[in-house]
Amino acid sequence: MKRIAILGATGSIGTQALEVARERPDFVKIEVLTAACNADLLISQALEFLPKTVVITDESKYPLVKKALAATSIEVLTGSEALNEVVKSTSIDMVLTALVGFAGLRPTVAAIEAGKDIALANKETLVVAGEHIMALAKQHHVKIIPVDSEHSAIFQCLAGESLDSVEKIYLTASGGPFRGRNKDFLAHITKKEALKHPNWVMGQKITIDSASLMNKGLEVIEAKWLFNLSIEQIEVVVHPQSIVHSLVQFKDGSLKAQLGLPDMKLPIQYALSYPGRLVNSFRRFRFIDYPQLSFEQPDLETFANLRLAYSAIKEGGNMPCVLNAANEIAVAAFLNEEIGFLEMSVIIEETMQAIPFILSPSLSDYVSMDEEARRVAKELVTKRKKVYQIEK
Ligand code: NDP
Ligand code: MG
Repeated sequence: MKRIAILGATGSIGTQALEVARERPDFVKIEVLTAACNADLLISQALEFLPKTVVITDESKYPLVKKALAATSIEVLTGSEALNEVVKSTSIDMVLTALVGFAGLRPTVAAIEAGKDIALANKETLVVAGEHIMALAKQHHVKIIPVDSEHSAIFQCLAGESLDSVEKIYLTASGGPFRGRNKDFLAHITKKEALKHPNWVMGQKITIDSASLMNKGLEVIEAKWLFNLSIEQIEVVVHPQSIVHSLVQFKDGSLKAQLGLPDMKLPIQYALSYPGRLVNSFRRFRFIDYPQLSFEQPDLETFANLRLAYSAIKEGGNMPCVLNAANEIAVAAFLNEEIGFLEMSVIIEETMQAIPFILSPSLSDYVSMDEEARRVAKELVTKRKKVYQIEK
């Protein structure tokens, strides 16, 4: 039996993790559930799974949640700081980090320092501070098990292998809804079109990241830290069917891949059950449904975000943190229809140019770098917004 805290229980990963818990109540015990502002869903999840504690970080929603759970013994907490506290509870074995963006960094650090194993969905934490996080996990003898499907695939391919035997890895990318399109096309696409992912239903931020290929850029950085690889050892290959979740090439030239239907419940369950596997009733792959699997090169010219992510990690230091912060601002501005699709890359690149380079940031440097990069990116959005509104 694994006792789990789910940070971001009301999101796409969080709700799918609860489906896993529903499927295997004999194996998963929910101890903590958290949400930012979706009080109604958090309340219904709490009444179903009866965790020890829930956190609603939006303080204005606290009275609602507190009142709805008054007849239970569930503790109700509020505020972002509460996330850093709940992960320390002695009744938790593992923390699933399913919240989105930089907000995942501090609770993940707190959980590692408390010796909790991490099922890591929140890739932004490793993008921002991967070196720091991996060193901290080693120091506290904590396992970080990837939930991201590509990284779960690599992790599964590496079972029983030594990292020294790896020549390189291939991260597969669906290519998103705009695969094969050029910049002229991308200049006019709408928020609605960008939110239509061909293979996965996910939260809004990662769906936009998938359409712009920033998601793959963030995943390259995530893989570098998780598997201790050089950036030259990580290649992206576009695979529109999303069946081959990623591959490892060993130094004898042999390739191992992990395949399956595009269903996040699988990597979530594997992270919870690792090193074992659990029987489940999820839909199975049928060859007849996929007579052809295809592979192609990513288009780094059209999808500049992937190129920017490679250049951020090659520069190292604070640059991936700056890239991430600028991207969070750019995606939010695109979703607010303040800027166009292609302008996201412009804002990210200009923010990276504006922020001074720091070679070895501390954890508090990352926090101030994140703030500074957000400030610069927001200014750039304000400037672009005017041009965009006139053009529209
Ligand atoms: P969603 O937007 O669907 O869910 C995010 C969750 O985090 C919600 O519970 C939300 O609460 C909560 N949350 C959001 N912002 C904050 C904040 N500032 N503080 C505290 N809680 C917050 O995201 P996804 O589930 O799609 O993604 C979660 C993470 O997993 C991301 O890092 C993503 O990159 C990664 N991932 C997701 C995949 C997917 O298939 N969705 C696949 C691979 C990785 P509320 O609902 O109240 O707003
Ligand atoms: Mg992924």
